[in-house]
Amino acid sequence: MTAHSRDEILAFGTATSEGAATTAGLDHWRSLPISQAPQWADQEDYKAAVAELSQVPPLVFAGEVDVLRTRLAEAARGEAFVLQGGDCAETFAGSTANRISARVKTILQMAAVLTYGASVPVVKMGRIAGQFAKPRSSDTETRDGVTLPSFRGEIVNGYEFTEEARRHDARRMVQAYHTSSSTLNLVRAFTQGGFADLRSVHAWNQGFLANPAYAKYEEMAAEIDRAVRFMGAAGVDFEAMRRTEFYSAHEALLLDYERALTREDSRTGNPYATSAHFLWIGERTRQVDGAHVDFLSRVRNPIGVKLGPSTKVDDVLALAEKIDPTREPGRLTFITRMGAGVIRDVLPDIVSGVKDAGLEPVWVTDPMHGNTVTAKNGYKTRRFEDVMDEVAGFFDVHRELGTHPGGMHVELTGDDVAECLGGANLVDESAFEEHYESLCDPRLNHEQSLEMAFLVTEALTH
Ligand code: PEP
Ligand code: MN
Repeated sequence: MTAHSRDEILAFGTATSEGAATTAGLDHWRSLPISQAPQWADQEDYKAAVAELSQVPPLVFAGEVDVLRTRLAEAARGEAFVLQGGDCAETFAGSTANRISARVKTILQMAAVLTYGASVPVVKMGRIAGQFAKPRSSDTETRDGVTLPSFRGEIVNGYEFTEEARRHDARRMVQAYHTSSSTLNLVRAFTQGGFADLRSVHAWNQGFLANPAYAKYEEMAAEIDRAVRFMGAAGVDFEAMRRTEFYSAHEALLLDYERALTREDSRTGNPYATSAHFLWIGERTRQVDGAHVDFLSRVRNPIGVKLGPSTKVDDVLALAEKIDPTREPGRLTFITRMGAGVIRDVLPDIVSGVKDAGLEPVWVTDPMHGNTVTAKNGYKTRRFEDVMDEVAGFFDVHRELGTHPGGMHVELTGDDVAECLGGANLVDESAFEEHYESLCDPRLNHEQSLEMAFLVTEALTH
């Protein structure tokens, strides 16, 4: 995040009356069909949580969100590459300093590989500080003849398979806010306080065992060190390297939470969702006449929409018209998650339809969600080769059509878990029993993430 003036930081402190016209429609979603909404167990708790969240300080500021929009506009034009990464589902217990720093470090390392290897500025974004709500394919889950509500992310209910844990508890929204706040505080400290200094690329690798991806990283870090020493000797001012912009993002699934954290910017009267810089609409909630699209079309944040393999070009154009009627650069990102087996067949029509309509969204690949399989021992997993094949297909399609492959969106962790199969240091199914930690979808571990960064760098430069 960049430095901001005091006025900018205080912009949400005072609401203005001029904004009334733009904020008037912010509750229209309540009258529309809504998918994936929780059924809060206690209405008094719900009212109290919403009242509290309506008063708390914003997590992000309008000025930062506006800067991100200009960065995304650069990615849409092919002048930058977006890297979004983090947990499928964050957890309250997992929001510790060590785990947060490992995740941030992983994204910084991947960004360093991409920036150095492909000479492209990287827009760094975490699925972090708010990624607590999960869409589910079924409302209920049955185990050994017992049926309970599905786990919907810790902002709604608990993972434990008991009636008490699975009840939809609105007080969890307040806990999610505070957890996001402390997470973001640490992310800001790491990325503004010198930890993200490119001169530390070597240090970021410490503590990891020697293996193929790390050896390659060490080699690159040594090259960066040499370049930095050269620049230092030539008198370059390193101040700009001490800090890096790092943005927060999550799926805007829980509209009760998003609405309560929406604030009017006193500079302009415009509404901003202040729960994160970037919000996306998931594959299951992107109905053009539905509640999620309506609400997100009314806030100023840059908005992403996930597009799965059944997407029709007309739906995409209707979404663009609703969310980005003025075609503002950087406003709209399409995150495609097609599956390695079909991306080369289904993506071209969508991209060319959008291109023919004269639109220039950011095109981001999510190579995770179309490639989920069940392992023989029952774990939900993804094969590293499938993930990389979808990334390759994404680059092929955009190359062919002359559009820009603008970024990637991945589920990853900085920890040494075993959740996805494959990679140079082969993870196999037997490792799941001991090292599978995700409460939702499988993530690339630290090493698989670095390996992916090297492979994507090659794709960007060839
Ligand atoms: C996710 O990003 O975790 C997710 C649920 O994705 P999608 O909406 O693409 O299925
Ligand atoms: Mn997921």
